[in-house]
Amino acid sequence: MTIATPAFVQGTKKLLIGGEWVEPSSGQYIDAVNPANGEVLARIAQGDARDVDLAVAAARRAFEGPWSQYTPHERRKLLLSVHDAIVDNFEELAVIETLDMGAPLARTRGYKEWLSQLLQFYAGQTGLRGIQQTPPLSIAPGFTAIKTLEPVGVVGGIIPWNGPLMGLWWIYGPALATGCTAVLKPAEDASLAALRVSELMMEAGVPDGVINVVTGYGKDVGQAMSEHMGIDRIAFTGSLPTAQAIVRASANNVKRLQLELGGKSPDIVFDDADLDKAVPGAGMGVFTNSGQVCVAGTRIFVQRSIHDEFVERLSAFAKTVKIGDGLADGVQIGPLISQRQLERVQHYIEVGSREAQLVSGGQRLAGEFEKGFYIEPTVFANVSNDMTIAREEIFGPVASVIPFDTEEEALALANDTPYGLAGGLWTENLGRAHRVSSGIRSGTVWVNTYGVIDPAIGFGGTKMSGYGWKGGREHVESFLYQKATYFNIA
Ligand code: NAP
Ligand code: MG
Repeated sequence: MTIATPAFVQGTKKLLIGGEWVEPSSGQYIDAVNPANGEVLARIAQGDARDVDLAVAAARRAFEGPWSQYTPHERRKLLLSVHDAIVDNFEELAVIETLDMGAPLARTRGYKEWLSQLLQFYAGQTGLRGIQQTPPLSIAPGFTAIKTLEPVGVVGGIIPWNGPLMGLWWIYGPALATGCTAVLKPAEDASLAALRVSELMMEAGVPDGVINVVTGYGKDVGQAMSEHMGIDRIAFTGSLPTAQAIVRASANNVKRLQLELGGKSPDIVFDDADLDKAVPGAGMGVFTNSGQVCVAGTRIFVQRSIHDEFVERLSAFAKTVKIGDGLADGVQIGPLISQRQLERVQHYIEVGSREAQLVSGGQRLAGEFEKGFYIEPTVFANVSNDMTIAREEIFGPVASVIPFDTEEEALALANDTPYGLAGGLWTENLGRAHRVSSGIRSGTVWVNTYGVIDPAIGFGGTKMSGYGWKGGREHVESFLYQKATYFNIA
């Protein structure tokens, strides 16, 4: 079936500042490219520091204006209106996301129920702000005190291109729940879904200036936001080097930060695992979204006695994964985001071919696919944990299978990485499942599954995968600060 291109995907897209769609100060626009065929879909505004100033001023005015007086009930109602607008228009949003960043419709449509739950979860958290405690005091008679949670203010959201339709809610959701205001900077490689979502939100009744969108390059818009004295908190998702630049820039006004970074997550397959589940489970743990997933389980540790069988079955599985234009029926993985990302992944495949044994995939798709940025699901075997392909985040559909002998060795190798975002293990032994899952140093561990995340629980990283938690009550609380007020009642 042919999928119609939404009317939104054409022409030039402006910036959203203070409730108005405005031209960027630079007067320049950037091509929004469809990675399935390299064609230009639309053009997005090239914002810069001047636009960030305007957006921050609008967000500050909104934060201090009538929005600050919204009751928890009014914020809940607003979030539920936003929920309905998003759910009612989800097919359009899924198509825009697929066109702009390449993930297949099966994936982008699949966000619908999950995002519906997430938005309802945030709607249920609007009571967190406000009076939390009136604790009994010990200091002296004649005093009383209240402890409140107050909104931190203007929050800057900087997100990557690998799933903006999902990723933007880690900023907009808690901002609306707490009464903060937001300036969002989507990645210049995939900004269209964020722009359309923001338009729908304004139509659903979000007050002017509560959400603002400044598209453009990270070095201009992202850097200006990170340095900005008027932004109280940055919620960032992206790579480690960018996070380090943001940490430095944020020193200007000691911004609060939430940093959700990359990973090189381990997925451990023991010899007692049910391979009928472990092979596709660990396989899609790497290949889904063409490997452009922060939690991808790219280091697959396999117990030596089943190593060869596992490798054979994983390669056979990789060959069954249907790759193609995300709009086409039955496609399971689409193209990579860009020519640059394709070259990056090809570089790692070349390095891996020298270091280890390439057992399947590794090729760019040719013929009808050559205008897009497609790379086959790729499996390397006999990898060791100190090789480049086992140390560096590739962000492509590349699995490294690493043999091990004992449980202790598997854990030591799994934890031998600077990252700590996620991890998985496959075993039918309950004791082992508990021992190994508790030993993995990461923010999330999956046992006999991979990648599932509940909106009310959320996820986050440890070590150099960053700090902060997305989803769950803690996430909403991180948009609030604590305040104590004392009363002399003698
Ligand atoms: P990236 O290069 O760090 O970009 C992320 C965002 O930061 C983009 O919007 C980018 O803008 C912006 N940016 C670039 N330079 C900046 C600067 N100097 N100051 C402020 N912002 C700047 O990351 P990516 O390559 O797009 O995304 C992949 C990375 O994200 C991977 O490491 C992946 O693991 C990580 N990720 C983590 C999670 C998680 O939750 N932990 C989820 C998804 C992805 P432009 O691109 O427009 O220039
Ligand atoms: Mg694009």
